Parts: sequence; C-alpha cells; structure tokens
Amino acid sequence: MQYDVVVIGSGPGGYVSAIRCAQLGLKTAIIEKYSTFGGTCLNVGCIPSKALLDSSEHYLNAEKHFKEHGIELKDLKVNFKQMVSRKNEVVAQTTAGITFLMKKNKITTYEGVGSFVDKNTIKITKKDGSSEEISSKNVIIATGSKPSSLPSIKVDKKRIITSTEALSLTEIPKNLILIGGGVIGLELGSVYARLGAKVTVLEYLDSIIPTMDKGLGKELQKSLKNIGFEFLLSHKVTGATVKGKKVTVTAEDSKGNEVVVEGDYCLVAVGRIAYTEGLGLDKIGIELEERGKKIPVDEHLETPVKGVFAIGDVVKGAMLAHKAEEEGVYVAELIAGQKPHVNYNLIPGVVYTWPEVASVGATEDQLKKDGKKYKSGSYPFKASARARASMDTEGFVKVLADAETDEILGIHIIGPRAADLIAEAVVAMEFRASAEDIARICHAHPTYSEATKEAALAATANRAINI
Ligand code: FAD
Ligand code: NAD
Repeated sequence: MQYDVVVIGSGPGGYVSAIRCAQLGLKTAIIEKYSTFGGTCLNVGCIPSKALLDSSEHYLNAEKHFKEHGIELKDLKVNFKQMVSRKNEVVAQTTAGITFLMKKNKITTYEGVGSFVDKNTIKITKKDGSSEEISSKNVIIATGSKPSSLPSIKVDKKRIITSTEALSLTEIPKNLILIGGGVIGLELGSVYARLGAKVTVLEYLDSIIPTMDKGLGKELQKSLKNIGFEFLLSHKVTGATVKGKKVTVTAEDSKGNEVVVEGDYCLVAVGRIAYTEGLGLDKIGIELEERGKKIPVDEHLETPVKGVFAIGDVVKGAMLAHKAEEEGVYVAELIAGQKPHVNYNLIPGVVYTWPEVASVGATEDQLKKDGKKYKSGSYPFKASARARASMDTEGFVKVLADAETDEILGIHIIGPRAADLIAEAVVAMEFRASAEDIARICHAHPTYSEATKEAALAATANRAINI
C-alpha cells in the first residue's frame, strides 16, 4: 500500500494528526501496537486518572462536606472494585470513540509494531509474528513516552509501581509512598488519600510541582496536608526494598541524615522518558538526543531525515496531551502545504488535584530571572461569593502583567475549576491582552471566573472591588 502519510502511534499526538491529515485530503494510515487506540493518555494516563479523581472526590465530599450542606448519609463506604470498573468503562468508551473517528475519516488502521525499513517503508509486525510492509511519502512518529525510574530502584509493578499499575490496583493502599512530588504523584496520591490512605511524598527539590509558580506549590501543599498527605521535601531517595507486603524506602534529607519510610505501596513518579523501542531508527540514521533520549527535530518538527516528522512526548517540550495534539495538527498542515504555528509559550499546565492548579505564561521566578519589570495582582477564592456557596474557598488567582504596557505575562490559578478557568487566560494572552482588558470584560456573576477579573483589576491599578 502507498500512503501520503503514515502515523506511528495513536496517542493524542498521533490520532489527532491522522484526522487532520485525512481532513486535508491526504491518504493516511495509522499504526498502533496495542489493540486499543488513544495511547498513554486515553488508556493509562489523562482519562483513567481523571475518572478516579472524580470518583474519589465524590467520596471525600460525601464523607467530609455533605453534612455541612445538610445532607446526612448512613453507612457510607467505598466499593473500590466498582470505582475501578467505572474507570475502565470510561476508558473503553473513549478509546472506542477513536476507532469510530478513524473509520469516519477513512484512515486505514494497522495493529502491530511499526518499524522503519527505510524512510519511506514501514514494516508492521503483528502479535502473531506475521508482518507486512507499507510505503508512504511522509511518516509521523508519535510513539510517546513511558514511566522512568531511578537507578537505585527496581519497579516490580506489584508493590513498587508506576502510574500504570496505580490506576488498576485491587485494593486501597494503607500507606502509600510517593517518590516525586510532581503532577502524577500528586494526582494519584490525591485519589488514594481521599479514599483513606496515608500518603508520604518524598521530593528531591524544596517544593512540590516545582516547575510551576512557587506560590501554587505552597498553597497546594497546605490543601493536601488536610487530606492526609505528609511531605518530605529536599529528600534524595537512595533505595527501595520489598519484603512481603511491606515496602521500605530510604532517602537522605538536606543535612545528609538517612530517613526511612515504610508503606504497603510505593509509586515512582519521577518523570517519563521518550519511547522509541522497536522503531528501527538506526535504519534511517536517526540518533536520539543525549538528554531525555528524545528524537531530534527542527522548528518544523522534522527529523534530520526529510519527510520523517516526530511529535508529542517523543520530542522536546512539555509532555502534555494538548501539546502533542497541537503538534499533530501542525505537522499535518505543514505536509499539506499550509503555514501553521504552535505558540509554545502559551501551553497551559494543569494539575487535577482539588483545589485544581493551572498556569500559563511566565512565572514570577522567570520574570525576575529575565530582569523583566512586572506588576502582580492576586485575588483569593475566599473572597468569592461563588466559592463560598460551593465551599471551595481554598486558593487564589494571580495575574502578572508588564509594569509599563500592562500586557499579561502569566496567569497562575489554584482553586475550584482552575483547569477550566485557565482557558480565559490563554485566550487573552493569545490576543496579547492587557490586564485591564480582562478587568473591563463583563464576567457572569456569581462565577469562579470573577476571581480572574478581580485579580486583573488588582494587577491593573490595585483596584479589586470585592475585597
Ligand atoms: P502517547 O499517548 O504515549 O501514545 C503513543 C502511542 O504509540 C502508544 O499507544 C504506543 O503504544 C504507540 N507506539 C509506540 N511505539 C510504537 C510502534 N513502534 N508502533 C506502533 N505503535 C507504537 N497530559 C495532559 O495533558 N493532561 C493530563 O491530565 C494528563 N494526565 C496524565 C496522567 C498520567 C497518569 C500519565 C502517565 C500521563 C498524563 N498526561 C497528561 C500526559 C499525556 O498522557 C501524554 O503527554 C500524552 O499521552 C502524549 O501523547 P503522545 O501522542 O505523544 O504519546
Ligand atoms: P514530573 O516531572 O511532573 O514530576 C517528577 C517529580 O519528581 C519532580 O518534582 C522531581 O523533582 C521529582 N524527582 C525527580 N527525581 C527524584 C528523586 N530522585 N527523588 C525524589 N524526587 C525526585 O513527572 P511525573 O509526575 O512523573 O509526570 C510525568 C509527565 O506526565 C509530566 O511531564 C507531566 O507533564 C505529565 N502528566 C501531566 C498531567 C497533567 O497534565 N495533569 C498529569 C500526569 C502526568
């Protein structure tokens, strides 16, 4: 078979790219090694984690907050098997949706491992060992990433686990140890803390979610402590052992003292690594980058081999589903002769804890480092009537704007529905709005979004109204 484009990998980068290619009239095929489409995100990432986050949040509310709302429950308990089974159902429906979209867009699908024979020929090796070859003018590599670990730790996938196993446990851990206070650790740690686990976070740096604006990590730490998290920051993990059902993790604190933490499960969440196994990149002369083992690409996401592109987690940049999707569309449009653009400065980052955390643009630390003069306006959710009505008063919105021009440089939110609130910030910044622009736009009352308007008012001229 001869195609215009063959996409290897069906995660959010690959499947979105295939659809855009087909929309643009390119004869397109997609290869996925697993039997379901959707990659990490749909099968063992974004979607299952959010399903469990929502279920566990319902439980926590029923247990801790319903009474204050005047709702009394008797015999409340968790049916964890049902919780995991609902999560599996959400995943099944979502991945089936991608199968539908492939058919709808007349994209040819292949199940098997795709590997390069040469730059225009891809061999597909199926589960039963049989194989076939297809050719294409262009190839888009979208093979994603897998969990990474530490040299001193052996992940046995039973007691010392990665996010993949943490999404399908058969029991609620009693004492969950998290190595890494980043996004995966805090999201999945939240699931189990809400269901009753004691969660201990061992984080190498001196703050959690260290790449986000510092104030967010501090505020989130306070909220998570209230649901059973303990934080051991500035701790370097040195090893982990399993004996029966007990995991023992050793670490060194900032003074060099040994710290020992025991639990029944240990989730290793210290980042992810690009996945290129079995692709046969050596056949076309592509060498991986030293750092992160990523596939090298130029500003057009083309590898050193003409006509071979790479997108998503397997290339440089944030490992996020929406970043992979943008790149998928970019490459499809580029191949079709258009002049697309991805604004890498405005890719929002979200942590789906409760309160949620969301950010776009520069952090205060970055602005200070760049010597940029800026002004800052914040508004706490405890001053928001909407937040009081729903009892979600933790957190704040912070707007950072250029000291002279008032152009918004960054917006950082921790609070209810921050993941959705950040969209306003992204739109405003895409249109290079000033803080005063947001301050002058009518926001519906009562909504959480009023907090963004108030923070913008505070940044513009220190004139927030409802505080
Ligand atoms: P992937 O989704 O990893 O897909 C790659 C696909 O390629 C896989 O299906 C793989 O089987 C296939 N493949 C690999 N090699 C071959 C081959 N040789 N032949 C055929 N197929 C192959 N991001 C967010 O933006 N929001 C979130 O809320 C979020 N939550 C997450 C939660 C967890 C627990 C995890 C682990 C990740 C989360 N992420 C989230 C990150 C997100 O999942 C990734 O950034 C995203 O999936 C990357 O998309 P991708 O298309 O590059 O690769
Ligand atoms: P991460 O990079 O977010 O966090 C890893 C954390 O581990 C960091 O805080 C780091 O300082 C710490 N760490 C590293 N080495 C350590 C050590 N030796 N001891 C103790 N701590 C150590 O990585 P992650 O949480 O594994 O997530 C992986 C990727 O998946 C991220 O790039 C993220 O973007 C993506 N993801 C996104 C979402 C979302 O968008 N909501 C959710 C889950 C995952």
